[in-house]
Amino acid sequence: MYKVSFINPLSNESQEVVREYGDLNSVFNENEELINIVLKTQNQKISNETLIPKNLGELAIKRLNWYIEKRYNKNFNNSYYEYILNPEISKCDVLVFHLLSQAIAMKFNITSRETRLFIESQGSLVDDRLSKIPPHFRSEFLDKVLNEMTDNIEINWKTLKDTIASRKLSLTDLIIDNGEIVLEKEDFLEKYSDEFKDRSPERMYDIIIGDNVKELLLSRIIMQKTEDYIKKIKDMSYTIEIHPSIEKIGEELASMIPEKISSYNTSYGSGIGLFGDMKVEKLIREAFPPCINNTMNGVSSGGRNDAIVLLLTSFLSYARLYPNIFASEELMKVSDIDKDLSITENEILPLIFEAAENCSPPLFSDQPQEKLNIISKLGFGLHEKINIENEGDTTWYTPMSCDKIKIHLPQLCKPDKDCKNINNPLSCYARKKNNLKITKKEE
Ligand code: SF4
Repeated sequence: MYKVSFINPLSNESQEVVREYGDLNSVFNENEELINIVLKTQNQKISNETLIPKNLGELAIKRLNWYIEKRYNKNFNNSYYEYILNPEISKCDVLVFHLLSQAIAMKFNITSRETRLFIESQGSLVDDRLSKIPPHFRSEFLDKVLNEMTDNIEINWKTLKDTIASRKLSLTDLIIDNGEIVLEKEDFLEKYSDEFKDRSPERMYDIIIGDNVKELLLSRIIMQKTEDYIKKIKDMSYTIEIHPSIEKIGEELASMIPEKISSYNTSYGSGIGLFGDMKVEKLIREAFPPCINNTMNGVSSGGRNDAIVLLLTSFLSYARLYPNIFASEELMKVSDIDKDLSITENEILPLIFEAAENCSPPLFSDQPQEKLNIISKLGFGLHEKINIENEGDTTWYTPMSCDKIKIHLPQLCKPDKDCKNINNPLSCYARKKNNLKITKKEE
């Protein structure tokens, strides 16, 4: 009943499905098999026509829509997407996974929010699908999928180094013995039975490892393999022609993802933080923390470049556009908030350039390439100017913490009373803004 392809879209069985399909011209043709599966899925809401994907192209968009809803919508209701967890959908889903991988690789950068969303959605899908499999099938099925994926070889933690380095998995989630990850009950009992004097070793295996660790491992390895697969397609994309169906899916994703995320982010990360008002509003110079004032006045000694490119660029852009960054887990791009980039162009960049000019010697006079690095730290790649077309080529650099500033730019950190108990300059800025507003009200 449960196919390996339901969990692993890169398995041998899945690749056979892709080979058999072959015809990309029919991606947007009505697909009766898919419609029937959706209509017959238990608990699936079908009250509205738009809830039913009619073809593989629509399923591709809805598959990512599902994850965005699940992640951002507080009132998320899976009954609108129940078919995604129906094992009958395996074949269509494998095809859609490969369509999406190609569309994402062709349209977006590997570090872009869109690519990360897709990789995360794959991990989340594996987690949810596994949780729906009845426990008496799950263990055996998990072993089958894991064994196929690892060629029945014991997993050495070094083979997972990319997965661990990318933080999809932590070493603390695993039990490692001489480099090998202990997953099987027999191995665990053989190695550790003597360690549990007054507890049942079998029970301890279930608590410490059991199916939970295998499930985690499986979904994280699939996420890593998805990322590797997208990189591979991207490397080849320069030499092959993009099929119009893939192009169409890429275009639809490019408009759907920001629109959908923005709809759940109406406040753009505003809020009341622990240290005061985190509202999105014009920059207030009088409230800049000491380290930022010192940078604005110009940096003369060592650290000039880092002060402007890393500290000031990230501080000013987040302080103006997304002050609540550390209280939120949402992935944002500058254009999610500053749609036509006019705030960045007219309010943020002039201040950065002013501070660069105040440096001694002025930053761009001897190192004009630092202008490109500033644009890159805002998420627009290594270019002369900000351009929406290049957004996502690099990631929007998050503000430096006070600890980092104290280590790398100690000459700029001159704490005042508002720096007490804070760990990043954004909190100091929020506190100062709040104090200013209180003072103004009292006057
Ligand atoms: S404590 Fe933090 S906010 Fe205050 S000056 Fe130092 S680095 Fe800046």
